[in-house]
Formats: sequence, structure tokens, C-alpha cells
Amino acid sequence: MDIVLTGTGSPLPDANRAGPSTLVKAGDTHILVDCGRGVVMRMAGAGSMPSFLAGVLITHLHSDHICDLNDIMTMHWVMTEGNGTLKVYGPPGTAEFVKRQLHALELDVGYRMAHHEPLIEGPKVDVTELEPGDSFEINDVSVTTAATMHAPVHPTIGYRFEHEGSTAALVGDTIPCDGVDELTADVDVYVQTVIRSDIVETIHNVMLQDILDYHSDVTEAAQTAARTGAKRLALTHMVPAPTPEQYPEWIERAAAYYDGEVIIGDDLTTITV
Ligand SMILES: [Zn+2]
Ligand SMILES: [Zn+2]
Repeated sequence: MDIVLTGTGSPLPDANRAGPSTLVKAGDTHILVDCGRGVVMRMAGAGSMPSFLAGVLITHLHSDHICDLNDIMTMHWVMTEGNGTLKVYGPPGTAEFVKRQLHALELDVGYRMAHHEPLIEGPKVDVTELEPGDSFEINDVSVTTAATMHAPVHPTIGYRFEHEGSTAALVGDTIPCDGVDELTADVDVYVQTVIRSDIVETIHNVMLQDILDYHSDVTEAAQTAARTGAKRLALTHMVPAPTPEQYPEWIERAAAYYDGEVIIGDDLTTITV
């Protein structure tokens, strides 16, 4: 199974980092987790396309994680010539978000149907709203879920994937909690969105200070990985985004608590498990 970090950015615009998203390639089964800014472009770089997706899984309904779902829906529709159904899974509220996105696209959908004969109806999107703890299969991939903690966003859902004996946990934005421990137990790779509290604390900006209480610090992610026996820790959605010269410092902070390999994500970093 390949875990491709298709977007390692955060809400803050970055020329080199697309918004949060991660692609799971389990054989021919492609599953996308979140769909932040630029996701379709990065999927192309990862050898995937919206029409290849067996499912789109949403961790939570913060805009940075879902802002390009409209692009996924449109391109899935067009590239399957209207024959495919896009499967979307996410927390309660996902169905309403999809409905409103499709409403916003109504004029475009009308133009394309008027112009392309194969498009006889609009995009078909099948939404499954999940409760934390649900588990299900997508082709030959087992997916388990658990509640994460990112209040006031509620509920937020983390995912664990199992395919041919390999495992990966993609837990999204969260502070350490029981759900994250459950998903990352003995996992082959644990992907965590992280911040550097020690740096953010020094930035005099009220809205940046607000992010401190609902994200994992690098050291907290490392402690979780050590506690649960995760075999590798991959960091993504880093705030503030480090330059490559700063990577050793980030790794050092994690290594103080965790002996395993720590991977600092760049867009298209691929972890094979
Ligand atoms: Zn986020
Ligand atoms: Zn968030």
C-alpha cells in the first residue's frame, strides 16, 4: 500500500504545499482522504485521477480539508462521462455540504450537459455519513474509524486502513486522545497533522494563538507514536510550514520521545507499507 501525501499544507497559502489531502493506493484501489486546495493537480502527480477513486473520505468539515471536493466531483463526473458514481464518506453534515456544492455547480453542469451528449444527468455522488467507530470495506481495503478531538469541530473522524496485512492511520486534525491511540496501535505508518506550539506561541496573532488548543504538537504526535507502537510517524499540515533546512530540528523534537522513523512530509512524499 502506498500512502501519498498529496497535500501537506494548512489553511495558510503556500506556493509549495497544496491543502490537506492524502491518497491511499492499495493495489488498484485508490482512496482519497480529505481534498484540500490543489488536490486534483497533486493527484495527477501521484499517478491518480478523480475517476480512479473508489472513495473519498472526509475527516472533518473545516474548509481547508474540503475546499476542492467540488473539483473532484466535477472531474469524476466528466472523466467517467457521467457513468460513474463518486462515493463520499464523512461525518454528519457531509451530505448537506455535497448537496450545496452541487447546487453551486448547477450552471456549469447545465452548460456541460447541453454541450456533451454522453452527459445526460448531473454528477452522481453517493454520500455515507459515518459515526465514529463505524467500519466498512472499500474493495479489498478494510477501513476502521474512531472519534478524534478537534473541538469545536464535532464530530471529527480518523481513519485506519488495512490491506494485505499492511496498515496506515490517517487521523486528521486532532489533539492526542483515545481514538488516535486506537487507530495508531502497532500501525505501519501514522500520519499526523501537526503544529510547532513553541513557534506559534511567539507569533503575535490572535487567530494563530487559537490553533494551539486543537492540534497536536510535534512532541505530542511523537509521544502518541511511542505509546501506541506506531512503526513510522509521518508529519503533515505543518504550522508553521518548515523549510527543508528546518526539517532536522522538527525531527529532533520528535526523536526526543520516539525511536522510530520520523518523516517530514513534502507534497507527493510516498510511504510504502
Ligand atoms: Zn486543517
Ligand atoms: Zn481542522
